[in-house]
Amino acid sequence: MLIDLHIHGMAHGEYSHSREELLPFIQNAKGAGISIIGFAEHDWYLEDINHALLKNLGEENEMDILVGVEVDHGGNALQKAEELSKYDFDYLIGSIHEVNGWPFDHPDHRDGFSKWDIDSLYSEYFSLMENLISCGIYDIVGHMDLIKIYGHRPNKNIDDYVRPLLKTAAEKDMVVEVNTSGVYKPVGEIYPGRRILEICKQLGVPITLGSDAHLPGHVGRDIAMTSEMLVEMGFKEVVSFHGRSPRFHCLT
Ligand SMILES: [Zn+2]
Ligand SMILES: [Zn+2]
Repeated sequence: MLIDLHIHGMAHGEYSHSREELLPFIQNAKGAGISIIGFAEHDWYLEDINHALLKNLGEENEMDILVGVEVDHGGNALQKAEELSKYDFDYLIGSIHEVNGWPFDHPDHRDGFSKWDIDSLYSEYFSLMENLISCGIYDIVGHMDLIKIYGHRPNKNIDDYVRPLLKTAAEKDMVVEVNTSGVYKPVGEIYPGRRILEICKQLGVPITLGSDAHLPGHVGRDIAMTSEMLVEMGFKEVVSFHGRSPRFHCLT
């Protein structure tokens, strides 16, 4: 079964949750053979997420539509968690898009990498990630190695950064997202990379899948191909969430 749990129907505010703007996302998902989709808007748009419309569109289009949210994990996580609890989400994706207030994945701020020793940057990024995984707020770890977006790699082995975190993820029943959007970024590969996925496999950390589509045409992008790769790696299942409870689906 193919799933895509990371879709931004509002992109960065270019679209809204209206029937006419959401329908193309759903039609594209159908066209790509996706059985379950999940909208995971950025948490900046919490009040604009139209839960009732998404549910209706699911029924009308015979598509399993989930409503999640992608949360910027930061210093105010507990306050955010309190606010999120007012809404009825199927799942919460925790993501890190900033280090010390620097939006490192934003193309306009790319030159910020030159100010860092890359090993120090990786340490800082993964210590934030450790906090995200251990805080108990989220269901899914979003694009776990996003810090590689422009191709900067540490001298240290990636295992040293991620293995302890993935052990915690296994203990906390966290699910790691396989996000296909990295293929279309300068780094040119999925998040997280193959080595991290191998460690997930070894430690029994479950995975889910998302395209991080910000346009209808990007829904389901590379999901079928990536699912096949995961099967070849030995993964058997992917996880979706319904009302914050995990459901396991056969990858084949
Ligand atoms: Zn993100
Ligand atoms: Zn996203």
